[in-house]
Amino acid sequence: KKWVYFFANGQAEGNAQMKDILGGKGANLAEMTNAGVPVPPGFTISTEVCKFYYDNNRTYPEDLKEQVEAAMKKLEEVTGKGFGDPKKPLLVSVRSGAAISMPGMMDTILNLGLNDETVKGLVEMTNNERFAYDSYRRFLQMFGDTALGIPHADFENALAEMKAQKGVKLDTELDAEDLKKLVETYKEIYKKHGKEFPQDVYKQLWAAIEAVIWSWMSDRAIKYREIHGIKEGQLLGTAVNIVAMVFGNMGDDSGTGVCFTRDPNTGEKVYYGEFLPNAQGEDVVAGIRTPYPLEKMKEMIPQAYDELIAIMDRLEAYFKDMQDIEFTVEKGKLYILQTRSAKRTSQAAIRIAVDMVHEGLIDKKTAVLRVQPSDIERVLHPKFDEKERKNAKVIAKGLPASPGAATGKVYFDAHKAEEAAKAGEKVLLVRPETSPEDVGGMNAAEGILTARGGMTSHAAVVARGLGKPAVVGAESIYVNEEEGYLKVGDVVVKEGEWLSIDGTTGEVFLGKITTVKPQGLEGPVAELLSWADEFRKLGVRANADVPRDAKVAREFGAEGIGLCRTEHMFFEKDRIPKVRRMIVARTKEEREAALAELLPLQKEDFKGLFREMKGYPVTIRLIDPPLHEFLPQEEEQMAEVAQQIGITVEELKKVVEQLHELNPMLGHRGVRLLVTYPEIAVMQTKAIILAAIELKKEEGIEVVPEIMIPLVGHINELKYVKQIIIETADALIKEHGVELKYLVGTMIEVPRAAVTADQIAQEADFFSFGTNDLTQMTFGFSRDDVGKFLPEYLEKGILEHDPFKHIDTQGVGQLVKSATEKGKEVKSTLKCGVCGEHGGDPKSIEFFATTKLDYVSASPYRIPVARLAAAQASI
Ligand code: PEP
Ligand code: MG
Repeated sequence: KKWVYFFANGQAEGNAQMKDILGGKGANLAEMTNAGVPVPPGFTISTEVCKFYYDNNRTYPEDLKEQVEAAMKKLEEVTGKGFGDPKKPLLVSVRSGAAISMPGMMDTILNLGLNDETVKGLVEMTNNERFAYDSYRRFLQMFGDTALGIPHADFENALAEMKAQKGVKLDTELDAEDLKKLVETYKEIYKKHGKEFPQDVYKQLWAAIEAVIWSWMSDRAIKYREIHGIKEGQLLGTAVNIVAMVFGNMGDDSGTGVCFTRDPNTGEKVYYGEFLPNAQGEDVVAGIRTPYPLEKMKEMIPQAYDELIAIMDRLEAYFKDMQDIEFTVEKGKLYILQTRSAKRTSQAAIRIAVDMVHEGLIDKKTAVLRVQPSDIERVLHPKFDEKERKNAKVIAKGLPASPGAATGKVYFDAHKAEEAAKAGEKVLLVRPETSPEDVGGMNAAEGILTARGGMTSHAAVVARGLGKPAVVGAESIYVNEEEGYLKVGDVVVKEGEWLSIDGTTGEVFLGKITTVKPQGLEGPVAELLSWADEFRKLGVRANADVPRDAKVAREFGAEGIGLCRTEHMFFEKDRIPKVRRMIVARTKEEREAALAELLPLQKEDFKGLFREMKGYPVTIRLIDPPLHEFLPQEEEQMAEVAQQIGITVEELKKVVEQLHELNPMLGHRGVRLLVTYPEIAVMQTKAIILAAIELKKEEGIEVVPEIMIPLVGHINELKYVKQIIIETADALIKEHGVELKYLVGTMIEVPRAAVTADQIAQEADFFSFGTNDLTQMTFGFSRDDVGKFLPEYLEKGILEHDPFKHIDTQGVGQLVKSATEKGKEVKSTLKCGVCGEHGGDPKSIEFFATTKLDYVSASPYRIPVARLAAAQASI
């Protein structure tokens, strides 16, 4: 019976299909050999030997010895070396390898075949005494440890002692004489444990083979098979791979290197790599010598170089991916030691995926799957200069709220930040937390840092909307706005000093770090995303409040607006006094008068949005936040505001007091405001409908506005406000004598609404899941304050991740899923989307794709990522 399978020089007795009896490694070596890849020659002892061994009282098949010795002879022939030959010794590596890769079995023994005589041959062959004795002492250590069970630590201690004696730190600082002594010390260690190091190379070989076969039944391997449900008898056992060692340090026609089939930094299709003549891999790793660029090899060993280039092409075509290849040249002969899929930068990943489709190597689906959403994110946002970043000091860490890198002079006041930016400074806005009044400063800043707040806090949501890098909830930072400094540990940063943040990792760095501009949505990224669009089933809309955002959203490929937060328009500088007048109104008439002033402004906003979206659907949400958010809270501002809106400070204070709520997030906001102040709903409806009518008449743009009511929990709330909207809208449409379709729908963000979705669907034309509030109310976690305890929840493993970042699939996600199903059962035309921050999160999108949702809506700068994630979820 055949127990041993040989491979060398383009011919192997096995192949890739023979994993069962050759193991994964053995089958692969055979396959590579057959494919013409010059792997070092060797042979595999089949897994059947392992099975025989355990079935037969730990004995080998009778004819095994003969077959192994014959294979060894052949190996001597093809390598031109002799096993145990003191002049030209053949050395081998011995490795285990089952059909399934399995940690717990024996590792590698290298340089087997060295003894007191052959080591001299190695000195001669490599002309390097230090190398030869270092190889020998390593072999003694590996063999003693893995084959004979001598504690690894004993060898390590002897090595450490030798270094201490010499007063050196690194292994590489020991010379040949030291290593010779160490070899003798190692032999003593064998004796101490009652063992003898076998000088007979065949004794070494059989001991190593036996060690591999024993390791099949090691506790760790058995445990591994148990855990992974691999049943006894399902696998025959482990194979033993015996492969000739090759040496790159045998003169100037030898060398070693690593190469890539493309440039791993840019993705460009060029041969890329490093080469070190007359050296072994360890020399490169130890950093003793600096390698040359790969082209240098062309001058030094041209034939091997040409062969390597041809093999790079062949391996890439075979594996259909960029390869990272380790090779060695021994006396002009090239050997491939390893090939694997290469690591690459985000930019390279995208370019390579797209290029390979054009080259016909992979299909579009594969390309779309090969790029990570984070790759898209990285290339579309600014990043730090790598070198500078490495040297920069991290002083704090917060939540990575909005991706990208930013550097600037810190300002603690939004207005000051705005002014400094106008004066041409690069500004980083640092706040304890942000409020709607800070938006101007946020927009002017390079990036935003807050000490408090979670992933859906105001700062996080607005920063993402603006595409500004942001780190929020960096709780270790103390911000003193009044005196203009921040403190973290004993580091103090004053106004005007430089600080840098990485919104992708949440890190805060001291000082200035150069940022590198991102590329736009063009070239390979744009092409890849256009392919993604062919595969995705979920629609992708944008959360956009103003025409500028809508424009960006369109450029990034949004198919409509899923959420326009109208209150964000109220915070524009010229409007806030009007909004405040509306809030402090004492009678309905006063309020209506104030609203009448806001109407034309809002109408123009909506016209702008509709115009940018050119007929794509636009969902506009009526006012959501509690009114007190629009009023000043601080004493000094009060006087100014009171004057602006024409009341006394005392009167204003009273209003502020009246509006004050203990728990504003659960307070008088959303639909509740519209129920108590229907005139607001009337004004906003008018603005929306008039905008659509005028656009149709003036510019011929057809829009179907989608009017959305926030925070509904009970069907009667929806009914009540919907009635007002319909009356207002229909009257206007009639008055203008046009035809205009519009929809009235609701946010689903109160758990009660999700649970009663079947009732609510009877009144709603669409659902939009506000997963920010839905998460807040389902968990009962304040979205603005979770930073206080969430880090410990994550640390202690109570939660796996921040539920405001990735949707909680088992709780909140189930509400979304079942409410969508319930809603659609009642009304099959019901459009359902998600407009909470989860709509732009790849992990959450993966879940949403498993529900009946129609689309996700994300801030403009996250649209590209959402397109890719949605495609990957559908493939
Ligand atoms: C939500 O709650 O998920 C939502 C989109 O609304 P907002 O973030 O404005 O409360
Ligand atoms: Mg909400």
